[in-house]
Amino acid sequence: MPIDLQDSVVYGPIHSRRLGNSLGINLLPLSWKLCDFDCVYCQYGWTPQTPGREKIKRISELAPLIEEAFRGFHEAHESIDCITLAGNGEPSLHPDFMEMILEIKRQRDKFFPEARVGILTDASLIHKPKVREALLELDDRYLKLDVASKEDLLAINRVGSDFDWDRFVEALRHFPDKVIQSLFITGSYDNTGEAQIEKWIRLIAYVQPREVQIYSIDRSTADPGLRKVSPAKLHEIARRLEQTTGIEASVFE
Ligand code: SF4
Repeated sequence: MPIDLQDSVVYGPIHSRRLGNSLGINLLPLSWKLCDFDCVYCQYGWTPQTPGREKIKRISELAPLIEEAFRGFHEAHESIDCITLAGNGEPSLHPDFMEMILEIKRQRDKFFPEARVGILTDASLIHKPKVREALLELDDRYLKLDVASKEDLLAINRVGSDFDWDRFVEALRHFPDKVIQSLFITGSYDNTGEAQIEKWIRLIAYVQPREVQIYSIDRSTADPGLRKVSPAKLHEIARRLEQTTGIEASVFE
């Protein structure tokens, strides 16, 4: 069974090797997932085809909730290394995306001035100037890229068939100062075949991130037929990427 959705706007702190002590921010509804991807490995299950009844909270509702939560963690002397926009789907779909980022940065400056503010995004909207501009306000941007062809994007990330692959790749290439996150799976879907990995390495060389983070599933997934890729295989992919492109690759087992 996939895990439950995040049931609050601010959640955590979650401790991870990648991000340290991280507070998650969920700008999206608490009762349904809002995403323009429908990844077979999504820990929150399949993306609903029709929106749920709960409305998206706008900034006037979200800002006080974030402030109250941050104040609580601050008063509890919780040490926070980073604040990460993620949550129940794709954060850049929020209608007040830029304003929310500026608000979160204001609250960060007030309560956790040392913390970095970052995002986990599927990068589908980074060709839009307003989304790109908002993302560039953040300290860190982790952009998803699991595949190297439209065919695999349709199969694994399950975007609509009208998804513009070429525009996506060019937007990734021209986006500055980014970390790419690539998740590898095997089982009912597989993106670890020799031809797929070769093509993915060429694509990473083309889009030129400052770093690539490689990992596999560690929770239940929407499609129950998926299996975890072995750490040895993940390290082999990372080594090949580094040797071929010189781009730093880290494996998170
Ligand atoms: S992009 Fe993230 S939230 Fe959206 S379906 Fe994929 S894994 Fe789930």
